[in-house]
Amino acid sequence: MSETFTGSFTQQEPIPDDAIARAVEVMGSGRLHRYNTAPGETAETALLEQEFAAWLGVTYCLAVTSGGYALTTSLRAFGLKPGEPVLTNGYTLAPVPGAIAGASGRPVLVEVTEDHVIDLHDLKAKIASSGARVLMLSHMRGHIVDMDALMELCDGASVAVIEDCAHTMGAAWNGVKSGRHGLAACYSTQTYKHMNSGEGGFLVSADAELMARATILSGSYMLYGRHIASPPEEVFRKVRLKTPNCSGRMDNLRAAILRPQLKLLDDNCKRWNERYHAVAHELANVPGVRFPHRPDKEQFVASSIQFNLPGFSKQQISDFLKAAMARGVELKWFGAEEPVAFTSRHDSWTYAGRQDLPQTDKVLSTLIDMRLPLTFTVDDCKLIGRIIRECAMTINAGAA
Ligand SMILES: *Cc1c(COP(=O)(O)O)cnc(C)c1O
Repeated sequence: MSETFTGSFTQQEPIPDDAIARAVEVMGSGRLHRYNTAPGETAETALLEQEFAAWLGVTYCLAVTSGGYALTTSLRAFGLKPGEPVLTNGYTLAPVPGAIAGASGRPVLVEVTEDHVIDLHDLKAKIASSGARVLMLSHMRGHIVDMDALMELCDGASVAVIEDCAHTMGAAWNGVKSGRHGLAACYSTQTYKHMNSGEGGFLVSADAELMARATILSGSYMLYGRHIASPPEEVFRKVRLKTPNCSGRMDNLRAAILRPQLKLLDDNCKRWNERYHAVAHELANVPGVRFPHRPDKEQFVASSIQFNLPGFSKQQISDFLKAAMARGVELKWFGAEEPVAFTSRHDSWTYAGRQDLPQTDKVLSTLIDMRLPLTFTVDDCKLIGRIIRECAMTINAGAA
């Protein structure tokens, strides 16, 4: 009798008790709006920004309604002009090209390598051919490109880097936390990311003017003085009457839910990696299964796992996914013809115009992706790994 898995791939852990208690207090106060404070009170949202900035080691932090909102706002605050090109990875999630379009930019997609990171050769070529001033770098599924080489290339070409850290909150490159390499970085606290407030996001930067513009954009009115991890008054004076208010503030309820989760984040990152290693161990040396290479300098947080099946045909991958699903293991495939659930490919973003990415298409055609929620135990992950191994070996044997 073959083993099956019965857990849910979309079930996150409950919100911690202290976060629930604080959320109830905030609701009891009625002061959910971040600028609705009693005399002498500092809003939960301002405290969260201060604590996130300290945890990351960055000067300024702004909490907003979503990760996608943070990305759009970063481009507006950067000063993107309508129709301007913005470089980004050809393999990422839909909110990234969507954020570029939302800032009236034009996405220019860059190839990714078989290790699932942006291709620096293609990036160099497209910096030259597009004339772009900015790269929105997506650390897609937590895979981090050689950031030393990337920053050298972009600095040398005067291209600003905005990091999409939706999957790298808690990760680092060469000891420097993800989100501290570029001009600015964006994070998401949507339910499936590394902290859970349902929806939410952060924009961080050390650039005072950019952050003053972002704060006004987020809908601070003239109440920006109630922020803590925020630039000084004189910087706001320069930008406040020239910058539109495009409401997208975080509220105190979400902030109350997030503050206790921040204390658990570093420990949770270790728990994700234990789960990742448990699955990866079962799949090591399985013929036909290729894992992206992860350099020693990449201190990743694996809240999901990816591998390629480069020798498998489309039919074989489809059979493999069905066999795994029949045993309770829900895998996503970036090579499917139609976009499914959260998984879409660059050819589905037709508003960005058709872009020729043969190398990315080849990688995506065999790319398998799976979430690793913390509700899975390490034993669950070993079982999942065994099921995937057995399904892959069965297809392999059938093909031989
Ligand atoms: C989730 C996600 C975003 C956007 O975050 P939201 O908070 O859902 O808007 C951006 N980039 C990537 C890679 C993501 O996975």
